[in-house]
Order: sequence, then structure tokens, then C-alpha cells
Amino acid sequence: MNENFEKEFELKYGLLFVVSGPSGAGKSAICRSYVNRFPDTYLSVSETTRAPRKGEKEGREYFYISEEEFEERRNKDYYLECAGVYTKHYGTPKAPIIENLQNGHNVILEIDPQGAMQVKQTYPKVVLIYILPNSIKTLEDQIRGRKTETEEQIQLRLGKSKEEIKNISSYDYIIINKPGRITKSVSQLASIIGAEECKVKTILDQDKGEVI
Ligand code: 5GP
Repeated sequence: MNENFEKEFELKYGLLFVVSGPSGAGKSAICRSYVNRFPDTYLSVSETTRAPRKGEKEGREYFYISEEEFEERRNKDYYLECAGVYTKHYGTPKAPIIENLQNGHNVILEIDPQGAMQVKQTYPKVVLIYILPNSIKTLEDQIRGRKTETEEQIQLRLGKSKEEIKNISSYDYIIINKPGRITKSVSQLASIIGAEECKVKTILDQDKGEVI
């Protein structure tokens, strides 16, 4: 028997996950709750050119930057991916992602489908997860309930969500987040991440020495 069995087969690098879903589907609540349960995971903090919403804090939900700063950083290849969403820009700073993966931490990016597809092209091993509400009505109720958007913004978000939902076949997993059932959704996220960690291919791939 190989005495170093555990050492040799331990996952060296973290795995990369993308969580997308319509605005109001509950993806932030699910990711935050997951990270509370598994604090070893790094939940990426994006940069955005949109203004902070009431209750949001610099460095927690986002880093808030100007369009000029965004443009400059995008040109310097500072982002792992970036996209224009609802007339504003959003980007994932690359350095903390690579560093966390190298240090063995799983990383979750909470980003839109345009960003998810960019990441998939660059890093085909990424696992894409889509959070769906159980109905469009639930989605509308959730967005209206948080009282942070104007009617025009609500309609924009609902329209975009309906379009997005038609294209979920590029994703690897779907979590249906029913109102009041967040615990189940968080458990499903944990099951997906746990299963990916246990895949034979994941373990063998890491022997190749590629972080991602
Ligand atoms: P919100 O303004 O409601 O916080 O986010 C709007 C949308 O932008 C959401 O779908 C959210 O997942 C997405 N988003 C947030 N950060 C990023 C990012 O860094 N990159 C991309 N592509 N989308 C992002």
C-alpha cells in the first residue's frame, strides 16, 4: 500500500465555479450562505461602474469604480472577464482568482451569462451553475420586494431574465430556488461543488499541474 496515499491524492488547486441567474432569483443570498458554511471558499468581489444600492458596502458587494477606471483596467488585461450589463460595466479582477485557486481555495464568481461564456472559453474546466426562480411571477415579486429599482429598471431586468432563461443549455447545473427554500438551494450548491471535487477527472487533471 502507498503510504503517501492521502498526500498524493489531495486536491492541490481550488476549483472554479460560476453562478448566474436572473436578477432577484436569490443567487447572492445562496452564495453568501454557502460561503458562511464553507468559509474556505473565495466569493469573488467584482468591480462595477454602477452606483451602490442602499445598504451595499464598498468591497463587500462590489468595488465601485468610474467608467474611465474600468476602461483603463480592461485595456490592461486586468479582468478575468468583463461585460456590459444594463448600461453599466462589471468585471472580475483576475489576480485574486488565480491566487486563491493556486492556494487550494474553491472560487465562486457570481456573474452574468456573457461573463460565464467568456470564462468557459478561456477556462473550459469551469463549472457553470444557473439559479432559476420557480416562476417569472416569483422573480417579479422578489425584484419589487427589494424596492431598489425604478419601474423602468424592473421591466429591463425582467425582459433580460426571460431572454437569458431561453439560453441556459450552456450551463452544467440548474438550481431551482423556491421562495422560502433557500436552505435546500444552498445544500444543492454544496452537493454540486462536493461532487465536482470528487470527480476522478478533477483529481487526475490536477496531476498535470495546471491551476485551471
Ligand atoms: P446587479 O447590478 O443587480 O448587482 O448585477 C447585475 C448583473 O451583473 C447580475 O446578473 C450579476 O450577476 C452580474 N455581474 C455582477 N458582477 C459581474 C461581473 O464581474 N461580470 C459579469 N459579467 N457580470 C457581473
